[in-house]
Amino acid sequence: MVYPQSPPVTQTPAQSEDLVTLTSFVPGPEQSAQRQLFGLDTPALIKLFGELGEKPYRGKQLAEALYRQRVTHLDEITTLPKALRDKLAAAGWEVGRPRIAESFKSIDGTERYLVQGVGPIGSTQTVETVWMPEGDDGAEYSSDLSDSEDEGLAEGRSAPTPGGWKRATICVSSQIGCAVNCQFCLTAKLGMQRNLTPGEIAGQVVAVLERHKVELNKSRVNLVFMGMGEPFLNYDNFMSAVRILMDEVGIAAPRMTVSTSGIVPGILRFAEEKVRPKLAISLNAPNDAVRESIMPINRKWNIAAVLDAVRTIPFKTRERVTFEYVMLGGVTDQPEHAEEVIKLVRRANLPAMINLIAWNPGPGIAYNSPSADSVSRFQKQLMAAGIQTYIRRPRGRDIYAACGQLKRTTEATPLAS
Ligand code: SF4
Repeated sequence: MVYPQSPPVTQTPAQSEDLVTLTSFVPGPEQSAQRQLFGLDTPALIKLFGELGEKPYRGKQLAEALYRQRVTHLDEITTLPKALRDKLAAAGWEVGRPRIAESFKSIDGTERYLVQGVGPIGSTQTVETVWMPEGDDGAEYSSDLSDSEDEGLAEGRSAPTPGGWKRATICVSSQIGCAVNCQFCLTAKLGMQRNLTPGEIAGQVVAVLERHKVELNKSRVNLVFMGMGEPFLNYDNFMSAVRILMDEVGIAAPRMTVSTSGIVPGILRFAEEKVRPKLAISLNAPNDAVRESIMPINRKWNIAAVLDAVRTIPFKTRERVTFEYVMLGGVTDQPEHAEEVIKLVRRANLPAMINLIAWNPGPGIAYNSPSADSVSRFQKQLMAAGIQTYIRRPRGRDIYAACGQLKRTTEATPLAS
């Protein structure tokens, strides 16, 4: 598909100083009169019951109800006596799990959701989450996972579900809006609004799992933290959400991938984590000059600085870092760009693979999608150089669900919930 040519860069680049300080001053949700249980892990729930003069095992029962049974109201927690549920409610506690407020379905089966958070009662602020069901045709993010990494899956795991999918990927947001200001991304147009809490991040996943009645011991579900926002500019909340998803919900870390635009302090902290998702770097350009023109963050941390930080990660056997490469027609998709990428990857000396993403168009963004031929030629050049390279199928373009398109667009036809 070819889109009209227009000048490439139209937005004011974000100031790098703003980016560095974001982690400390970005507000969370406005205060709610109620207090949310969803987002507290088992130790925190045990502590809460201790403060209420109750036994510790009640905390475990509550965690089971919140994260495995996926309850949405205190009344549904039948393992707790009614008197105890009333006591929680009287102390101002509610379940407070984010809920799907609106849904849009693509012709390719992808669903995009506007998820309502746990802000003040009546708040209409939403964040985007995407469900991508896949047949057995080479899913982009599971293609690099061997079956042995499917921790905890039962026998017969590849049998199709009642919904007809064999595996699925959920794309999760970490912030409302984004400050990184990548010039090709619709989310950037929202500006930075606020960080999501751990409960709001993990809650997107649980709400979607519940919508599709996913049984995690029978289905292959991957998570990609590639929705709205830069996870490493909301590092603590993002990692708390990851721990809830691992320890409480039951999704193994190798099933999760986090993508960063190259926030070096975040990468260095990530390298220190004992258990962590896999890492993807939004490279998107063959050199610093091009990257700076499409990703202002490159002025703060250039490609060499990002790669130095990635090298501090103790990669496991067979683990690889993924370089995401958004292909912009005429800007990053030419044969000479592929040659530069080959040299860059070789110099990086990292266990790496590349995901090519044909740019997804959005209103008001002045780039061209690359031709199918240029994407295929680019892949062949990299593969011929021995670099494992995948082409990521665009998912849900017609409902603004594809990569870089998440802007809470409501023009697509909503699904009946
Ligand atoms: S591509 Fe990611 S990091 Fe860049 S502006 Fe969009 S949401 Fe932010």
